Order: sequence, then C-alpha cells, then structure tokens
Amino acid sequence: MPNASVETIRHSTAHLLAAAAIQLWPKTRLGVGPVVEHGFYYDMDVRDAEGQPVRLAPEDLAQLEGTMRSLIARGDAFRRVEMSMEEAITFFQERGQDFKVELLTDLRTKGTTAVRPEEQRELSEVPDVVSVYWTGDQFVDLCRGPHVDTVRDLGAFALTSIAGAYWRGKDTNPQLQRIYGLAFATPEELAAHQQMLAEAEKRDHKKLGPQLDLFVFSELVGSGLPLWTPKGAMIRTLLESFVWELRKARGYQRVEIPHITKKDLYERSGHWAKYKDDLFKITTREQHEFAMKPMNCPHHTQIYARKLWSYRELPQRYENTTMVYRDEQSGELAGLSRVLSITQDDAHIFCRIAQVKEEIQKIWEIVHTFYGAFGMPLRLRLSLRDPQHPEKYLGNQGYWDQAETMLREVANENAAVYVEGLGEAAFYAPKLDFIAKDSIGREWQVATIQIDMNMPERFDLTCVNESGERERIVMIHAAIMGSIERFLSVLIEHYAGAFPVWLSPVQVAVLPVGERHVESARALVQELSDAGLRVEFVDATETVGKRIRQQQHMKVPYTIVWGDREMASAELPIRLRGQEELLTMARAAFVERIQKEIRDRSI
Ligand SMILES: [Zn+2]
Ligand SMILES: [Zn+2]
Repeated sequence: MPNASVETIRHSTAHLLAAAAIQLWPKTRLGVGPVVEHGFYYDMDVRDAEGQPVRLAPEDLAQLEGTMRSLIARGDAFRRVEMSMEEAITFFQERGQDFKVELLTDLRTKGTTAVRPEEQRELSEVPDVVSVYWTGDQFVDLCRGPHVDTVRDLGAFALTSIAGAYWRGKDTNPQLQRIYGLAFATPEELAAHQQMLAEAEKRDHKKLGPQLDLFVFSELVGSGLPLWTPKGAMIRTLLESFVWELRKARGYQRVEIPHITKKDLYERSGHWAKYKDDLFKITTREQHEFAMKPMNCPHHTQIYARKLWSYRELPQRYENTTMVYRDEQSGELAGLSRVLSITQDDAHIFCRIAQVKEEIQKIWEIVHTFYGAFGMPLRLRLSLRDPQHPEKYLGNQGYWDQAETMLREVANENAAVYVEGLGEAAFYAPKLDFIAKDSIGREWQVATIQIDMNMPERFDLTCVNESGERERIVMIHAAIMGSIERFLSVLIEHYAGAFPVWLSPVQVAVLPVGERHVESARALVQELSDAGLRVEFVDATETVGKRIRQQQHMKVPYTIVWGDREMASAELPIRLRGQEELLTMARAAFVERIQKEIRDRSI
C-alpha cells in the first residue's frame, strides 16, 4: 500500500513493535499502542518465557529494533479476522492477554473502552463483532485497522525511549513499560526529524536558561515557580516594552488589578463551575473564600463596568501585563513550558460589534510586527463553529455569523494563508490563532484573538447607542506573547541563547588585561554605558583566555579585551560572538552600530 497515510504507517509499526516484543519475551501482556505526533508508543507488561517480569534497559531498544527488522524481512501481511465478542474474549484469554480481555469486557458492558470521562464517546450500540489483525501467523492483536498491506510497506522507524506508564492512566493499576518510537514514510523524513531533535536538545531552555543566568528554581519556593534573575528580568522587560510600544501607538491604556478576588467574581463569570479545581483557593480569617486569579478578563470587566459609556467613547482598550496562577499537577511541570505562575501580556478591548474588524486589524499588525522582529514566520488558523452542532455555542447566531465573517475578512484583506478549523472555536466565540515557526522548524501556537460575546452578557456590559438605548457590547481578548514564560522558552531555543543585540542582557563585555588597565577600562565602560549600552566590566581575576571563554559561554554579542595597545589606540578591537576574527572600529562608529541595532531591533 504505497499510498498509506503516515498515520497508518505509524499505527502498523506499533503492531510490529508488539510482535517483536512477543517474539523476544513470549509472555508479554500487551496494553494499548496508539499513534502519537511523529510516531507511536506501545504499553506492555514485559515478561519472559517463564513469566518473569523483564525490566527493559535502553540497550534493549536496539534488540527490539533488530527483531522488528527481521520480521520485515519475512514480509508478513496484515490479515483481518472478525469474530464475535464472546469468541474474542476467549481468544485473548487463551493467549494470556488480560489487558485485551479487560478492554473487550468494558466494550461489551459499557459500550466504550475509554477510562477518562473526557475521552468517553458513547456508542449507541455495542458492537457484536470485533476484528483482530494477524501479522504472519505468530502475532495477533485486537484492532480496528486500517494497516499497510504487508510489513514491507512500512516506512522508516526508530525506537527512542522507555518510560513507565500506569495501565489506562490510573495509578492504582499495574505499571507498564511504554516504548516510544518515531515513524515516517521515508528515511529522509526520519533523518530530518532526528536531526531536529538533536538540535532541540542542544538548545534546551532548561539547560540554557540557568547557563545564561536568566532564571532559577528554588526548592523552598517550589517547582513550577520560576524566579527571574536580573538578566532574565531584563529580557522580560524588553519584550514587554516592545509589546506596549506597539499597543500604545494604537490607543491602548494600561490598567492594573489585584492578584486575588472574591469567589463571587468567578461564579458570575462561570469560571468557578468550570475551572474550580485548577484554581489556587484562599480562605480568609473571616472565612471568606478567595482565589488567585487564573485569568484577568473578569477583573477587567469590572474596570469597564465602573461607568455607563457612550458609544462615542468606545472602544476602551485595556492592557495589563500581569501574573496569573494555575494549579497544575507537579508531574506536568517542565522548565518554563509549564509553570504555576504565568505572566500574560493581556489586553481586552470593549467595543461595539461594528468596531470589531478594525480592532482585529490593529492586533493583526501588532502580532506581525512583533513576531517579524524575531524572524518567526506565522501561520494562521481560523477557529470557527462546528456547522453540524450550532447548539453547542452560546449566544445569538447572527453575532456568530458577523464575528466569523469579520475574522475571515481581516485574513483575506491581509492576503494571509489560513486554514479553517471547523469546531475549533471556543464555546463562546470564534478566534484567530497564530502559529509561529522557530529556527529549527518547530511550530508553536502563540498569539490568539478571541471575540467574546459571553462575558459581556454575564456581566451585563453595555454602552448607550445613538438612539439613547443600552446596547450589548463585545469583548476582544488579545494576548500577543500569551505566556511570557512559555514565549521565553521558545525564544531561548529559537536563538540557542544567542539573543539579538537589542535583547541581550549584556551587550558589551570589557576585559582589562591586568591591574594597570583597570582604570581606563572602567572609563570605557562608563562611556559606553552613557551611550545607552548595557556593558559589563569583567575584572582581571582570571586569565584573559578564560574570561573570553566565559563571555562566549554567556553568548555576549561584543567583547573588548583592554590592554596596553588598546589604551594607546584610537580604535577598539572587538570580538564578535561566534567569530574568530576581530573587528577594529573607532569608538563612535562602534557605539553608533550598536545603537542602530537596538533601534531597529535587528535580528
Ligand atoms: Zn492495528
Ligand atoms: Zn481575556
């Protein structure tokens, strides 16, 4: 089947992995083996011929891979056999595949094999026939298919890692071993992906962040709560100021709010019912219930609601860069990508429905200018209603039609290429999602624009229109970076820590060769600082060679070694980040060069 989809190839490769495991360790009990992004995994309780558990080591992956390749050489076909539910249960019982028996029993009694309520899909009828797939005459698995025709039609694959996983994700169930693999249609695609992974590992922000002294975690403070060092805080401030500059030019105003609120606010907004478990809750000494804010929108509605607005005063555009707090499970926390304290560069626009399009156009410009400054191309998704299920969405269908039309018009007028995500809208509003591509080709969802017709309803937000009547307004949510923590994790990896000059916490390092050069080196530092550059004086406590290596390690863009010759010369010898040769420039020209790089936010 040369035209098999990559999903089918990945899925069929998972069968092959299970077949190899059974061949090597015959009493292995199989869990499930789904397709994931770029590959697949298979959960199994690995047991040898005596039924003894086998703890897999990374070396075993090579052996498994070798066995998979020998199975491919045999060229077995995938063969479908249907049997009744009863037959299938006996069939897997006889083969000692208890987990498959459990799945089938669930399917028979509950009509579903899903464990988590959110995964549960109601089957109107319990199927009375199930299918199994044979690979050759040795290996059989419970499966709906489809597969490639024979194992020779598989693409390129590689097993990557082993992890522990509880059967069906419940920690009271037995722990299985999860074997991960990559699978692609061609060896070239697999190689390109592996190369990208190797590059991503070198750039890992969890390693680079502390190396560059940007942030730190403290056991006393807790995991998921990054602490920002002076250098890290500097970068945050620069990013924030950039966004503010773009917003200020478009009529936004700054607001500020407390980080806690009475629970009443979230009861009114509907968040309490929906997200209660994700909130950090506080009970005051007077037994009042408060919560740390997990988002800013409800607070901002109360700033808008402070007076009755005339339509002439709209839009009101509020910007607020501030932290929100979400109670995530500690196992899910990872570097800056998942944290408990999230800084949002948040903004809310309160306007009439007829003003939405113009406001979106403004946000569009901000998003493109911002991501353009990092050389990150953007892709766009229009997240719309599911036309099959209009009842799932809140509010007036006429509003939805208008809102969706406006989003599409803005995309078209900007000649943007976009995909339409039917059914991807939030239940209260359609949205525009921007997806940025980093320097090694990974994609990240970044900014989002949401047109919200729900919150104004819940908080009864209005303006007085031309006829003197109260008119319901619309609220637009528009974060540019989204979470600054997550954006910084992307940015650190995008640049591999070598930030452009305008973002570098230290732009120039000055290294006096010895004691007698210190005084004039300090004078140079002062002169450059006065010109608005961020300059670090690196005292002569170590050898020059060692200090130069330190600056390279910290990815400082410009380093100046200051000795006898330099003191006597009118020109500066400048060592550029990542380059061997020195650049010699007059002081004034050097200062001008950096000032221009900062001004232009050169990449
Ligand atoms: Zn299958
Ligand atoms: Zn919001």
